[in-house]
Amino acid sequence: MDKNQKLELIFNAIRKAYPGRTLVFYDGSPDAEIMMIGEAPGPDEERLGKPFVGRAGKLLNSTLEMLGWQRTDFYITNVVKYRPRDALGNTITPSPKEIEKFRPALEKEIEVVDPRLIVLLGRVAMLGLGIEGTMAENRGKVIERSGSPLPDGSRGSTRKILITYHPAAILRNINWEPMFREDLSKMAELVL
Ligand code: URA
Repeated sequence: MDKNQKLELIFNAIRKAYPGRTLVFYDGSPDAEIMMIGEAPGPDEERLGKPFVGRAGKLLNSTLEMLGWQRTDFYITNVVKYRPRDALGNTITPSPKEIEKFRPALEKEIEVVDPRLIVLLGRVAMLGLGIEGTMAENRGKVIERSGSPLPDGSRGSTRKILITYHPAAILRNINWEPMFREDLSKMAELVL
């Protein structure tokens, strides 16, 4: 089974578990060495069926381009594959329970894509991989997840994880943009 087929199995299980929800899976390449993980799709993403295509996505794209990368260099996904809403239909942040529910599927998605580096965009992405603490404590950090390679040659659980802000946070506080760019500029050496 190739990567696309393995990913489809994961996504089909999610489709079955959340009938009637507008689900958004990934963009970019399953063969990418870098996987970017966000929070959950927003209304623009729900409409276009791809992660990070709204305002936050445009800021992410322009920062990546400034650093010499293209979107196709990445596998881009979210922890929660739909946008949680309150009783009035307003978009809200995923709850800790929702984040936990999506964690097994996210871990499987990571194993299939088998990236060298994972970039976590914001606190929900951190929690999605079970990393505790605030953004202030963690942004800019590189964590190594140790583990032995699997018999099929994939990296198993050995990967580098870079933590940075969510691009929507930069839209709210433009003073953080240089730190966001600095964090993402580490990607090149982390995949060497
Ligand atoms: N915010 C996210 O976390 N993910 C998206 O795909 C879009 C906005």
